[in-house]
Amino acid sequence: MLSLYNTLTKSKEELKPLESGKIKMYVCGPTVYDYFHIGNARSFINSDFIRKYLEYRGYEVTFAMNLTDIDDKIIKKANSEGVEANDIAKKYTTAFMEDIHRLNVKPATIYPKATEHIPEIIELTQKLITNGFAYESNGDVFFEIDKFQGYGKLSGKHLEDLVEGARVEVNSSKKSPLDFALWKSAKPGEPSWESPWGNGRPGWHIECSAMSCKHLGETFDIHAGGNDLIFPHHENEIAQSEAANSKQFVKYWLHFGFLNINDEKMSKSLGNFFTARDLLKVYSAETLRFFFAQTHYGAPLNFSDEGLDGAKKGLKKLDNLIERIKELSNDIEIKDNGAVSNFADFIRLFEEAMDDDFNTPKACGVLFDFLKEANRKLDTQVGIDGKLLFDIKSFISATAVDIFGFTSFNKVVESSNSLENELIELLISVRTESKKAKQFQLADYIRDEMKKLGISLKDTKEKTTFSKD
Ligand code: AMP
Ligand code: ZN
Repeated sequence: MLSLYNTLTKSKEELKPLESGKIKMYVCGPTVYDYFHIGNARSFINSDFIRKYLEYRGYEVTFAMNLTDIDDKIIKKANSEGVEANDIAKKYTTAFMEDIHRLNVKPATIYPKATEHIPEIIELTQKLITNGFAYESNGDVFFEIDKFQGYGKLSGKHLEDLVEGARVEVNSSKKSPLDFALWKSAKPGEPSWESPWGNGRPGWHIECSAMSCKHLGETFDIHAGGNDLIFPHHENEIAQSEAANSKQFVKYWLHFGFLNINDEKMSKSLGNFFTARDLLKVYSAETLRFFFAQTHYGAPLNFSDEGLDGAKKGLKKLDNLIERIKELSNDIEIKDNGAVSNFADFIRLFEEAMDDDFNTPKACGVLFDFLKEANRKLDTQVGIDGKLLFDIKSFISATAVDIFGFTSFNKVVESSNSLENELIELLISVRTESKKAKQFQLADYIRDEMKKLGISLKDTKEKTTFSKD
């Protein structure tokens, strides 16, 4: 039984899809006005773990992630650079796609963009006016919070407290300070679209209601996003969608904990961030993914170099086992004989961990216990057979490769054919020759210099092998 923590009910619930065998999932994506930081990346990677595990469990997942491509931040950046808002959105949408690919995140089934859904947004806004939940005022359209019973059910906030704490805006055309914009009238120099209320552009919250409804239906299974989106963004999405359609909007709400730095949320506005792009110059996507997987998606995580270095070291053990399997497969054919896996217990434990609200740290623990056991079996088993190799490879493929993206068999195969590896082999043979010619100083020099480059040599009776740090 797969269970997940639902922010709406504040409890762990069994996952029961609306349609058997299918999951429709929506995750709030980026506002494309800059390169995304590794805090954003944590949310994208956590949703990738969840989506891939659901697929592992046999669900057909329709995964939508929106791109907010019209917004105050985009307009501000365009004005400061003297270009069109659209140019900024296009540039950073391309950058987003590149970075997501580098992070080994599976592309969404669909990436709906706000600017490509203006008719749907207008239609939904119109419906809310017709149903009495929204009103027009000087070319703006606002959602009237007082009209929606149940406002606050996701975040646990009470209307009375919110009203008390709200800042009353001077000259506001809103009925209540809490009412939020569905449609914003055009300001000079801003992009705008025609609407029944004059030229303008959509508010932020309405795009997610309109696009999720169009692509996933009026009610769908899972909606996720960072903790910062619970209020007001997701609360407002619920109000808009349920007021318009008179039915439950989303069954399960999942929220991701923040990536913090010195116990403060990593964010653009605080300036305490690293872009994913820059971090990937120093650490691999695999290392970052493993670093994230070691903490539950809902818990906060502190960024640290030590954490990333630890993750890098840990993954080495995994890659060493893959190398070992590949070497052994030169002599033994990897093959299945249909019998139960040698690692059936580990498969069960792995699934139990992931079935329990996607407990990735526990699942990583199982993976590393498996590494120990696999190596132990390879060390001690007399007459290693193709089935043992098959079971080891299958477990790694299904978990570390397909769900977590910690490594890849291809990557290792590719790199062992790469020019870099051929050059390393060439240096090793020069060293071997120099030893034969008793030029030990040269041989040591080659070994020491290679070590400085992060390549360790290991001499055995038959040959010299290498490993990269
Ligand atoms: P934004 O472009 O700021 O709207 O953020 C895109 C996604 O990243 C949203 O789901 C945010 O909740 C999430 N996010 C932003 N900052 C962080 C952070 N420091 N840690 C985790 N997720 C974050
Ligand atoms: Zn959203």
